[in-house]
Amino acid sequence: MPITIAGFSGSLFVVAAPSGAGKSTLVNALLAQEPGIKLSISTTTRPPRPGEQDGREYHFTTAEDFVERAGREEFLEWAEVHGNYYGTSRLMVEKEMKLGTDILLEIDWQGARQVRKQFPDAAGIFILPPSIAALEERLYKRGQDEENVITRRLLAAGGEIAHAPEFEYVIINEEFNVALSEMSAIVRATRSRFAQQAARNASLFAQLGIHAQQS
Ligand code: 5GP
Repeated sequence: MPITIAGFSGSLFVVAAPSGAGKSTLVNALLAQEPGIKLSISTTTRPPRPGEQDGREYHFTTAEDFVERAGREEFLEWAEVHGNYYGTSRLMVEKEMKLGTDILLEIDWQGARQVRKQFPDAAGIFILPPSIAALEERLYKRGQDEENVITRRLLAAGGEIAHAPEFEYVIINEEFNVALSEMSAIVRATRSRFAQQAARNASLFAQLGIHAQQS
């Protein structure tokens, strides 16, 4: 009998950070380095930034459509962040995890909380900037948002950081390569958990007569 967590053999990674901590750059480098992890593309009501494409960074939609879909429970989790709605497709995550694909969610603390309730074994990773000054500098350098949006995000950063203790792992993004190798280490350790190994190597475990411990 394969030992899986509620029928899902893939691992679930939940990555959160305040805006400006360098989360997207780190996650993209991680995905390039660790094959077999799929990034979930969220749905949002935020307007696309220059260079963003529908279906690549996000699925962009209207508030009306989002609320209707939230009502139909199409989202595994959803939240209002910086005045816009963001949500994760339940169908995509559950389908891929049943197939054994590892999924990474780049979401905020409110979404992470909802995911933790449904998947207590999800690996929660919180990325911190090395200092407040570095956080401000990264937000201003990005220059893709209006001044009032940046101010709102800076204020929100403090609120997001306050939820770091809810996460299992913390990465301090001072040296990019160090932070990246720490992220990789977390991914590999999570994949080596008993339940994941047993699900991926069911016939080997059966041959060796290994059975899940009854608690
Ligand atoms: P941005 O607009 O800068 O791409 O993202 C703003 C914030 O929304 C980030 O903290 C990001 O992690 C969060 N976010 C993106 N997608 C989702 C989602 O599907 N659910 C939740 N709860 N937060 C999300």
